Amino acid sequence: MSNLSVGIVGLGLIGGSIAKNCRRVYPDSRIIVYNRSENARHMALADGVANIATDAVDESFAECDFIFLCTPVEYNISYLRQLKTVMKPGAILTDAGSVKSDIHRAVIAENMEACFIGGHPMAGSEKTGYENASAHLLENAYFALTPTAKTTEEDMKRLEQFVSGLGAIPVILSYEEHDYAVAAISHVPHLIAAALVNLVEDSDSPNETMKSLAAGGFKDITRIASSSPVMWEQICMENQSNIASLLDDYIASMQEIREHVSGGNASAIYHLFDKSRTYRGTFSERKPGLLPKTYKIYCDIIDEAGAISTLATILASNGISIKNIGIVHNREFEEGVLRIEFYDEESTGKSVELLKKYKYTVHVR
Ligand code: NAD
Repeated sequence: MSNLSVGIVGLGLIGGSIAKNCRRVYPDSRIIVYNRSENARHMALADGVANIATDAVDESFAECDFIFLCTPVEYNISYLRQLKTVMKPGAILTDAGSVKSDIHRAVIAENMEACFIGGHPMAGSEKTGYENASAHLLENAYFALTPTAKTTEEDMKRLEQFVSGLGAIPVILSYEEHDYAVAAISHVPHLIAAALVNLVEDSDSPNETMKSLAAGGFKDITRIASSSPVMWEQICMENQSNIASLLDDYIASMQEIREHVSGGNASAIYHLFDKSRTYRGTFSERKPGLLPKTYKIYCDIIDEAGAISTLATILASNGISIKNIGIVHNREFEEGVLRIEFYDEESTGKSVELLKKYKYTVHVR
């Protein structure tokens, strides 16, 4: 894509990452940014990411081919009306909000369906702000795109192409489907994890036996309970009906499980675990065409000088070539892990064995 002009409203973690990514992959693009606070605007001008930084959503955005709204969802909605009068014909307005129904309803009310396509980059971190934004945050992440009833095929293709160019994987869904899916795979699990952690705290003995014993399994399923309370409060308030409906189903299934346990129904409990194990086992099977095949592993690493080179030396001295290596911070690995990419399946398998032998904790996703 050439002669691109891209607008970013809200230059925090996500807006900043889109801007930095855009500068990296489309170096000749013009990037126009708005941010409420001055600091991020100065940083983006100083590091060459932004060509223009404004303190208002004004005429500067008239040249943009794509405009991304990247402030918290309720504020994104407040910019629709302003942008309507500024945008050039053919420009595409999109957003980065984690929940899509509210903005789609506002777009319909503003009669902006022809120029708006919703977006949700499914990558992130607990960190906020431009200073934590990364030109690689969206790499290989799903990027949900939610068209309106008036989105043309041509506009859909243009946005898909732009998002793919950033290294993300566009997935097209209706906004209703998106919000129901993220409620099930993300919002409800966050609530369950938080409730489970609080259950243990409230049930523990004064000398904290449960806390001392809590290890692998418990920590694995409750890792997301450490997420930002502010962000998750906002997300849950924006997707209330989907979350409530799935929580009803979940509570009903827990009631049933409770009855099986107290009634000694062993075969029902067996069936529960057997069903979940079978389904969970299919998760790593990627659908061809949805995600490009990459050979990567993640490895916990001690945060000290030389740790990466020690690991790289172990692999190199065993004849394993590394395609790419770097620290990642995202929601899945809150504390940051080392991501190592290989050229083929064989090197991936060999490296897992080797690193485990050296007592590294390796995650294969
Ligand atoms: P952030 O806090 O890093 O950035 C938010 C930006 O919005 C900041 O630049 C801030 O100055 C600006 N802002 C806040 N209130 C504003 C207001 N009233 N008016 C104008 N600007 C305001 O947050 P973020 O993580 O970049 O989140 C931005 C959007 O991205 C949100 O809609 C969120 O739902 C979505 N999102 C976040 C993640 C994540 O993991 N953080 C992932 C996917 C999508």
